[in-house]
Amino acid sequence: MTFDTIIVGGGIAGLLTGAILAKNGQKILLLEKTSMLGGRSNSIEYKKGYIVDFGIHLIRYSTKSSMYKIFKKQLGEKLDIINCGDIKLFQDGAFHDFPLSMRGLASTDIFNDEEKKTFGPVLVDILKLKVDDYLDISVPDYIKELEDKHGKLSEPIKDFLVVVANLMCVSTKTEMLSSGEFVDGIKTGSKAPSGTCYPRGGWKSIIEKLTSIIKEHGEIRTKSKVDSVKIDNKSIVGVNLGGEFIEANTVILAIPSKSIFDLISESNFSPDFIKMAKNIIPTVGVFMDFGLKEKISDHDGTILTKDPFTMSFFASNLDESIVPEGEQIYTIFQPTELDVISDKDKIKQVKDNLMNILNEMYHDFSNKIIWHRTSAGIVDGAVPFITQHRNLRPKVKSEIEGLYFAGDSYGVPGTGGEIAHTSALACTKAVLEDRTKLELLT
Ligand SMILES: Cc1cc2nc3c(=O)[nH]c(=O)nc-3n(C[C@H](O)[C@H](O)[C@H](O)COP(=O)(O)OP(=O)(O)OC[C@H]3O[C@@H](n4cnc5c(N)ncnc54)[C@H](O)[C@@H]3O)c2cc1C
Repeated sequence: MTFDTIIVGGGIAGLLTGAILAKNGQKILLLEKTSMLGGRSNSIEYKKGYIVDFGIHLIRYSTKSSMYKIFKKQLGEKLDIINCGDIKLFQDGAFHDFPLSMRGLASTDIFNDEEKKTFGPVLVDILKLKVDDYLDISVPDYIKELEDKHGKLSEPIKDFLVVVANLMCVSTKTEMLSSGEFVDGIKTGSKAPSGTCYPRGGWKSIIEKLTSIIKEHGEIRTKSKVDSVKIDNKSIVGVNLGGEFIEANTVILAIPSKSIFDLISESNFSPDFIKMAKNIIPTVGVFMDFGLKEKISDHDGTILTKDPFTMSFFASNLDESIVPEGEQIYTIFQPTELDVISDKDKIKQVKDNLMNILNEMYHDFSNKIIWHRTSAGIVDGAVPFITQHRNLRPKVKSEIEGLYFAGDSYGVPGTGGEIAHTSALACTKAVLEDRTKLELLT
């Protein structure tokens, strides 16, 4: 069997890319090195009757997300999602409404009346901002600019803006975060029915759907690690894996940009591209999942803490089908410095601290746990820093003919997983356009 396109990597970007191309009649071969599809977005059946995603795993922007749009427009399928409820901030021993809309602003008690009056016009200004003009401007510099216009902002307002930036960009390195990327998130979210949503049945349902679409027109092989991509005269000719050569004139590397050079020698790329692709800094952190023997909260939105910054969520409050009856699943995540995830002692320190936070948030939390798992690692492929915003990351179309990229470290709009999803759209658009041009020439 010959293939139109070989996709290397069966994470969410590879699967979305494969499904879109398959729907466009392309014969796809998708190669995944592990035994599981989904990459960092995988979810598994864990313990008895629990569908467990990898950490807290939500789709940003609900029906305005790239994922929702791809399912609707490219795949002709309705993505079954459940919108998340409002965000809460746990502070000084109590939960507070966290205002991400004018409605939320009216009801929150984290601002006094004077602050609410000041914040209204600030929010209006934020929503009017031209994203492209602010990609190179850090969040603190943008806050200074807001103060120049609106007068000195109170500490609760500045703290709030910092927490929203940390939430949107999943990083606490506020001084490095791109205000354009952060504001783009607020703008997109403000047009959506909810800031985030959860796929019914967990991410497992998305992965299974995409897999079946690809398989209708092509092939998926797991436990198939690609060793190298073969290039001849600056054009792609195929891939090598385990002694086998598979021919194709189009290859999509749906892997992090740092890993490109494990498969293709640097001599094929320009120095600028190599520097850009190698230096992308990911978000990392520690995440804990818990199976709980009883329902300890009805809250169906994200819960935040400020110091340390954490995000947590009860997925089973949105979709009870992912847990055994009467039980609950809860996940908490704390972004950390890069060195933490390779140091067992530091991971333990974070974990102990997270347990303290949880016992403060929920009465007798430790005694409600049936099982838990702790993981530490890479979360998002590229933190939206001013040094690596959408225009400073590798593009989805490479300098080599027939070679394209998809994944959450490439140069498309979005933050976190949204980058991976949007990249699939941009990558398949480039592949299909180039293929049409080629067909017109031959
Ligand atoms: C705990 C956690 C929580 C997260 N929460 C969210 C969230 O709430 N919302 C959100 O939007 N995003 C979230 N993310 C981020 C999201 O999961 C990622 O952005 C997304 O999954 C990245 O997908 P990808 O396909 O680009 O990369 P990956 O998932 O890394 O996929 C790459 C795939 O390529 C395979 N591969 C690599 N090299 C080879 C080779 N040589 N041959 C064959 N296969 C190869 C790998 O095994 C892997 O399966 C979270 C991530 C984690 C870890």
